[in-house]
Amino acid sequence: MSRSPGLIDSHCHLTAPQLANELDAVLDRAQEASISSINVVGYTVEHSQRAIEMARRYDALWATVGVSPHDAKDAPEGFEHSLRTMAVENRDEVVAVGETGLDFFRLISPRETQISAFIKHIELAVQLGLPLVIHCRDAFETTCSLLAEHGASAGVFHCFTGSAREALRAVELGFYVSFSGIVTFSNAQQVRAGAAAVPDNRLLVETDAPFLAPSPMRGKRNEPSFLVYVVEQLAKIRGASRESIARVTAENAHRLFGRTAR
Ligand SMILES: [Zn+2]
Repeated sequence: MSRSPGLIDSHCHLTAPQLANELDAVLDRAQEASISSINVVGYTVEHSQRAIEMARRYDALWATVGVSPHDAKDAPEGFEHSLRTMAVENRDEVVAVGETGLDFFRLISPRETQISAFIKHIELAVQLGLPLVIHCRDAFETTCSLLAEHGASAGVFHCFTGSAREALRAVELGFYVSFSGIVTFSNAQQVRAGAAAVPDNRLLVETDAPFLAPSPMRGKRNEPSFLVYVVEQLAKIRGASRESIARVTAENAHRLFGRTAR
C-alpha cells in the first residue's frame, strides 16, 4: 500500500466474509484511495485470530482482539485467556483490545453478560498496556463508570453516535472519538455536533465496514476505500481541509495504537 502518510481506517471488519472473500481487490481499492493502514477489528475469538493472520500477511493491516457486546453471549468460557495469549504472542500485530463495550439499545446479549465481558476486556487492556476499542450505544454512563472503576485510561469510542457533551466527556477521560459513515447521514445532526466538538488531537475516522456505508454509498456493502466520504464530511463540519483531517487522524491513530508512521 501507499508509503506516503495516507488515511487510516481505525476500525474495519476485514475478516467478515463480505470483505474477506475478495480481500485483494478491497485492499487494492483502499490503496488507490490513499488508505495507508487499516485496523482489522475482531468481534469473536475466531475472528480475532483471523485478524492477526491478516495483519501478519499485510504490513498495512493492524489487528485488534476482542469479543463484541453482541457476541458476548456466545463467548467460550475463559475467552479472555485466549485473547491474552493472542495479544502476548503477536505483539507486532495486535494494537488494541476490542471491540468491546456495551450496547443497551439492541441488547443482543443480556446486560449482565455484556458488563462482565466488558470488565474482562478492560482488565486485559490495562494489564497489557494496550488501548481499548469501545462500542457504546445507549450505555454511555455505565461505560464511563466501568472504565474509571477498572482503571482504563486509553482507547477510542468507535462509531461515535453520542452528543457533543458526551464526546467531550470521552475526551476528558483520556479517550479518542472515532466517526464513521453515520456522520454523512442526513438525519445525523447530533453526530455532526459531536464531530464538530472533538479537539483535533483526539479525532479518528473509520468505516466500520462492511457495515454503515457513508452517503452517497449508503445501503451498499461498505469498504475501506469509502473512508474518503467520511473525511470529506468531517472537513465540511470542522471547516478544515480534507488533507488536514487526513493528517491529524493518521497522526492520532499512530499515537493511540503505538505505531510509527510509515
Ligand atoms: Zn465494529
